[in-house]
Amino acid sequence: MYRVLKFGGSSVASATNISRVLDIVGKETAKGCVVLVSSAISGCTDALLQIADGNLAPVEELRKRHRDMVTRLFTGAERRSMQERLDILFEEMLAAPDPEKVTYGEIFSTTILAAKLEADGYRTHWLDSRKLVIQGNLGLTYRNIAGAVHTEKVDIFVAPGFVCSTPEGKVSTLGRGGSDYSAALYAAALQADSLQIWTDVPGIMTTNPKQVSRARTIPEMTYNAALQMAAHGAKVLYAPTVAPAMEAGIAIEILNTFAPDGGKTVISAAARESGNVGLASQKRDSIVELCLVGSSAVQDVEAALTGAGIAPLRVWEEDGNVLLTVRPAVEIPALRALHRAFFETLPVEQVNLFVAGYGAVGKALVEMVGQSAATVSERTGKIIRIVGVANSRQYSIDMSGRPGLPSEEGDYVDAVCARAPKGSVFVDCTNSETLYLRYPQLFAAGLNVVSSNRRSFAVPYVTYASLHAAARENGAFFRYETTVGAALPILESIARGANSCDQILSIEAVVSCTLNQILGDYRPGGESFASLVRKAQQAGLTEPDPRLDLGGKDALRKLLILAREAGVRLEETDVEVDPVIPQELFDVPIEHFYEGLEAAEPLFADAARSAESQGFRRRFVASLERVDGVYRAGIGIRNVPPVHPAYHLKGTENAIIVRSAFHPYPLIIQGPGEGAREAASSILNDILR
Ligand code: ADP
Ligand code: ASP
Ligand code: MG
Repeated sequence: MYRVLKFGGSSVASATNISRVLDIVGKETAKGCVVLVSSAISGCTDALLQIADGNLAPVEELRKRHRDMVTRLFTGAERRSMQERLDILFEEMLAAPDPEKVTYGEIFSTTILAAKLEADGYRTHWLDSRKLVIQGNLGLTYRNIAGAVHTEKVDIFVAPGFVCSTPEGKVSTLGRGGSDYSAALYAAALQADSLQIWTDVPGIMTTNPKQVSRARTIPEMTYNAALQMAAHGAKVLYAPTVAPAMEAGIAIEILNTFAPDGGKTVISAAARESGNVGLASQKRDSIVELCLVGSSAVQDVEAALTGAGIAPLRVWEEDGNVLLTVRPAVEIPALRALHRAFFETLPVEQVNLFVAGYGAVGKALVEMVGQSAATVSERTGKIIRIVGVANSRQYSIDMSGRPGLPSEEGDYVDAVCARAPKGSVFVDCTNSETLYLRYPQLFAAGLNVVSSNRRSFAVPYVTYASLHAAARENGAFFRYETTVGAALPILESIARGANSCDQILSIEAVVSCTLNQILGDYRPGGESFASLVRKAQQAGLTEPDPRLDLGGKDALRKLLILAREAGVRLEETDVEVDPVIPQELFDVPIEHFYEGLEAAEPLFADAARSAESQGFRRRFVASLERVDGVYRAGIGIRNVPPVHPAYHLKGTENAIIVRSAFHPYPLIIQGPGEGAREAASSILNDILR
C-alpha cells in the first residue's frame, strides 16, 4: 500500500520543477500512501561541502535560491512563515559542526516540499531520516521506519534522503548520491508496492546520454545488471540502492521527472537477461576506466577501438564484463566507438537481388555482394542478398540467399514475378536484345530494375519512354548507369542537370573502349589496324562481332542513352554515323572481314599521318550538339587538338564532355570505362542509391 518516490536534485531544483513533482506525487496518492524521499536541490550539497570547508562565499547564493523557491510556491502568511523557517534552518546549518553541514541540503528541500504539500491540502508528515536511518544497521533502520510510518491520517510522508545517524548517534550521510539508497531503505522497511527513482533522464540508458547522445533507455534490467552499471560509474543509480530492493523483492523503476510518460527502466528479478547491457565510465586517478557491462569478448572491444583509431591503455575481463582504461582525452571518442559497435543497430532493410546473366559481370556482382555485405550494411543499413541467378537457359532461386548455380528449366522472369517480395531488384546483366520487353511485367510485380544491358535502350524513343512510365506507375526505380562508361557517374550527372532546369548545349562522348584502345595504340607504319582489332577482339574488349564497334553501333547505343537522359528525344535515324571501316566490309562474312581490313591499311595510315602532321590525335567521338534550337547527333573519328580533353586519353579510358547552360566550361567526366568489376560496382551503386 506504500509507494516510495524519490526525487533527485534537478527534479526539485526550482519552483517550476517542483510543480512537476507535485503533479507526479498527486497522481500517486490515488494509488496508496506516498513516501516522498528528496535530495537537496542541485548543486546544494557541493556548496555545503565548500561552506564546511570554511568558504562562506556560496551561502548567500544558496539562501537566495531557496528563498526564491519559497516566494514562488507560497503566498501571504505561509510565505512569511516559510521564509522565517528557512532563515532559522540556515542559522542552524552555519552553527552545526562542519561534518554535519552537508546534511542540511536535504533538510531545506524537504521542509519546503512538506509545507507546500500541506498547503495544497494533503495530510503531510515530515520524517526525520537522521533519526530513523542508522548507518550499518539495517534491522534497526527497518524497525525505526516501520514504527514511524503508518497510514492513519497521512497521505504523504516526506523524508530527506542522504542523511542518517551513526550507531553512536552522530548525524552523518549515506555517501554522495545516497538519496537513492535512502529510498530503497524506506521501500524495503515498508514492503512498499512501488519504488520509483525520479531523475532527469528516461531511466538507465545504454550509456551516459550527456556523453553519447545516441544512448537509449534500457527498458528492463536484472538487479545484477543494474548493480554492475551503477558500480562502474552510471551515477543515475547509486549502487548500494540495489541490495535492499532486491532482498525485499521490490522492483526499482527509474523515471524522468521532465517526461513522465517517456521511457523508463524497470529493474526486477523478472527482467530478461541480455548480452551487452550498457557502457559505464568513471574517473580513476588520472585515467578513465570504461566498463562494457555484459558478455562481450575482449577481442571485440579491442577491434571496435582499433577501428576508431583508439589505443586503450589496458583491456581486461572481470566478472563477465570487459574493462578498459584510456586517457581522459579519449574518453568520449572511446565511449562513442564502443556504443556504436555494441549498442547502435542501424535500421536494417533487406534487399533481394535477382540476377539475370551469369557472365563476367553477373559473376563479379555475385562475388562483390558476398565480399562487401558487412561494409554495405554498416554504411547504408541495407543487407543485400542474391536470391536468384540465371543464364540464358536455366535459373535458380533461393529466398534464403543461397541460389547456387542456375539449374532449373523454365521462364526466369515468370518465376521471379511469382516469388519476389515487393521492392526486390531485378538486375539485367545479359546481352539479350529482348529481355527489356519483360521489364514492365517486373515493374508490375513490384520489382525494381537495374540494367547494365545497353541493348535494352537502343530502342525507339516511345519504347524507352514507356519503360520509364511503367517503372513510375509502379513506384519502382529503373537505373542503368553501367550502360555508359561502366562505373563512371555519367548518366546520373546528366540526369541531375536535366532534372534541375539545366539545358544541355553539347555532349561529346568518347566512350568506345575498343576504339579508344585501338586508335591510341595505332601508329602508321607500325602494327596494322587489322591486327590491333584482332587483339582487342581476343582480349574480349569488342562485341562478339567487332564490326558493331567499328561501325559505331555500340557508340550509337550509348549516345541514344546519353541524349535521352539529357531530355532529348533522339532516335537512331537522327544520328549521322561515319563508320571507321569501309562500308563494303560490313557485308562480307566475318572470315573475310580481317582480310579486307588488312587491305584497307593504307586508308588508316594516311588518315593517321595527316592528323599527326597537324598535331592532332584521332578519337572516336559520339556527339550531340544544339544548333539553332535543334539537336544534331553524329558519330565518327574526329581529329582532336591538344587542348581537347580527349587528346590525353589512355588505353580504354572514357571521357564525356558536357556543356550546358550551367556548365559552359564543360563538365568533364573521365576514367576507366570498362571492366567486369567496375560494371559490378556500378550496378551495386544503382541498387543502393
Ligand atoms: P539525481 O540528481 O536525479 O539523482 P544524478 O545526477 O545523480 O541525478 O543521476 C542522473 C545522471 O546520471 C544523468 O543526468 C546522467 O548524466 C548520468 N548518467 C550516467 N550514466 C548514465 C546512464 N547509463 N543512464 C542514464 N544516466 C546516466
Ligand atoms: N544530495 C546528495 C548528493 O548530491 C545525495 C543525492 O542527491 O542523492 O550527493
Ligand atoms: Mg543521484
